[in-house]
Amino acid sequence: MPRKITCEEGRLVVPPDPIIPVIEGDGVGPELWRAAAPALSAASAKTGRAISFLPVPAGSAAAEKNGEHLPAATLEALRSHRVSIKGPLATPVGGGIRSLNVAIRQALDLYACVRPVSHVPGVPSPVKEPGKVDMTVFRENTEDVYAGIEWPASSPEADALAGFLASELGVKLKPGAALGIKPMTEAASKRLVRMALRFAVAERKPSVTLVHKGNIMKYTEGAFRSWGYEVASEEFAAETVPESSALPGDGRIIVKDRIADNMFMQTLLRPAEYSVLAMPNLNGDYLSDALAAQTGGLGMAPGANLGDGVAVFEATHGTAPKYAGKDVANPSSLILSGALMLDHLGWRDAGDLVRAALKQTVADGFMTNDLARQIPGAEPCGTQAFGAEVLKRI
Ligand code: NAP
Repeated sequence: MPRKITCEEGRLVVPPDPIIPVIEGDGVGPELWRAAAPALSAASAKTGRAISFLPVPAGSAAAEKNGEHLPAATLEALRSHRVSIKGPLATPVGGGIRSLNVAIRQALDLYACVRPVSHVPGVPSPVKEPGKVDMTVFRENTEDVYAGIEWPASSPEADALAGFLASELGVKLKPGAALGIKPMTEAASKRLVRMALRFAVAERKPSVTLVHKGNIMKYTEGAFRSWGYEVASEEFAAETVPESSALPGDGRIIVKDRIADNMFMQTLLRPAEYSVLAMPNLNGDYLSDALAAQTGGLGMAPGANLGDGVAVFEATHGTAPKYAGKDVANPSSLILSGALMLDHLGWRDAGDLVRAALKQTVADGFMTNDLARQIPGAEPCGTQAFGAEVLKRI
């Protein structure tokens, strides 16, 4: 009888036969899950465990069935089972429903979006040495301009706020401005940086870089940088050293900071100098896709949304609507997100098995269209066929 994962004193207690809720998602989501799930189950079985995946509704399929995009029972299942995996969910631009992904992250307080980026040999890349990219992005997931506090141009709310700013704070805006708020707190910034530092210590990473735009947004992004250095010096004094006082050969983790625009350049020109990156929400959204591009694109980019005792794993990409139902999208990002999930369960051996099988599949010349189209003469492999090849190699 499959059992629920529990959490005791902040630590996950994972039975060998856990129940893992699954949101298949919109667009390419369901077909990617069909291709990915067998490999994850096989790797678990091969290492002596048995996962039971529990489908839970969300997105357009859920809305068509019972009128709700994100049923409360789905959120409760994600919360109470502790670890789950999801496909992409669609969000309309400029109106309509708010992002379900953001809603899930906020409701479950999944405050860190963690995206490891490295290159699978053989995957085509626009840069000369993609193997030099080995970074893990920790993106703050609950605050910043993503908090969803905004009002349309000339709305009564925006005009009222503009009136308040003018009368109380002496700030004059152009008439009819749309307004958004960028809240960033010490507590949320520090817990994100703390998670990044803990990861760097546990995985023996050489550096943690705080990525911010604090030269312009001094009291939000600038404060993120200061709070980050504070966590390092107050809570990780023995394990870390700020870049400004590090001597050559110092074995401690170097904590540095970079302004976001410079960081985009650094990732292209000097990628080997960066390892763990911690940053506010918007910087993290942009930078993780840019890094994904260096290592093969969104089809290869895994991710996880982590809170304290709750985790939802998901690929970095969206619903890729133009590929939905065509059996061409790359399931690697979801397969690799599943491997991260297996690591998170404490099953690193199973996660490694999935990663090794995927690497071997690519090395043997199987690639979906997003990759094959960049290699002259290469024949693309379908979504399901790619998943089956990975499965064969487990
Ligand atoms: P997207 O779905 O990620 O697609 C952008 C492009 O990335 C695609 O056109 C395709 O590039 C490539 N791509 C993405 N996934 C791929 C895969 N598995 N295999 C191969 N190529 C892949 O981004 P979008 O078009 O901006 O967003 C579409 C919808 O997804 C929106 O409703 C958005 O809100 C939502 N979204 C959801 C999430 C989430 O659920 N976490 C994240 C991002 C976006 P080419 O055109 O070059 O082939």
